[in-house]
Amino acid sequence: MADRPEFKEIDGKAIAAEIRAGIAEAVAHRVHEGRVPPGLATVLVGADPASEVYVRMKHKACAEAGFRSFQHELPATASQEEVETLVRELNANPDVHGILVQLPLPTHLDEEKVLQAISIHKDVDGFHPINIGRLAQRGRAPLFIPCTPYGCMVLLEKAGATFEGANAVVLGRSNIVGMPAALLLVERNATVTICHSRTKNLPEVIRAADILIAAVGRAEMVRGDWVKPGAYVIDVGINRIPDASTKSGFRLVGDVAYDEVKEVAAAATPVPGGVGPMTIAMLLQNTLRAAEAAG
Ligand code: NDP
Repeated sequence: MADRPEFKEIDGKAIAAEIRAGIAEAVAHRVHEGRVPPGLATVLVGADPASEVYVRMKHKACAEAGFRSFQHELPATASQEEVETLVRELNANPDVHGILVQLPLPTHLDEEKVLQAISIHKDVDGFHPINIGRLAQRGRAPLFIPCTPYGCMVLLEKAGATFEGANAVVLGRSNIVGMPAALLLVERNATVTICHSRTKNLPEVIRAADILIAAVGRAEMVRGDWVKPGAYVIDVGINRIPDASTKSGFRLVGDVAYDEVKEVAAAATPVPGGVGPMTIAMLLQNTLRAAEAAG
């Protein structure tokens, strides 16, 4: 197509590996200087299988980067007080630089109160109301940026997207992805439209986007003819669809019909291998930053 450069796949796996190698080097340097390695504590309440997998992946990534990690598991019946007490103990532990409470929490727990109990200096997930509030205010940088939206921004930067004055559309307005992603884009001087389940004329709105971040959780919802030629497309979605040709009987797809979009966009992330690996890389980055700030 004449009006767009050659399509570029944004290789999140390779970019995340590069970031993780840089972090491992910084940790080795830190330890060589006689300082403690960065420490990440995870808090898992209950036995949600997906959450267990995510927590396991985070500990593995910590070990590979030379971090210490501390795994805390509470039963699904844990009380609000028990969870907050554990968080407060971790706040006071000097070996712990970052605290990650794996979400979602069982429904009887008040998620906001738990997140609020985390010291903002250890809030490496960036979900503390103060950090989110700072993200939403001009000139008030948060101590930590939520990992998945942070990863999206790094991918856009690496792909060469221009933020200043660009039309950006964020599809989805969740607390953990869509809304912070929109705030980060505004901060970079993009003109941002946030879409959600009540948005009218979605394809038309998306067609105006120079930058699109899709985070809806709807398999291949964004079609090729919804995308502006030359757009930069970041696909956060992770959806399982049945596939009899695989051993597991399913495969993972994003919120974007990648095969169609790659015929139109300037660059896009695949699923898997796009945003997914970045989330953990940015968590390590935030934890290293917390450790550096602590001394
Ligand atoms: P949520 O379910 O919290 O939010 C989904 C958003 O999409 C909501 O704002 C919702 O609108 C909107 N939405 C749903 N259906 C439609 C529709 N038909 N048209 C327009 N908007 C719609 O999801 P998350 O933000 O937590 O996650 C989104 C996806 O990203 C999921 O697939 C998840 O698995 C994936 N994810 C991937 C991560 C990674 O590391 N790669 C990390 C986190 C999430 P409304 O607000 O009106 O309900």
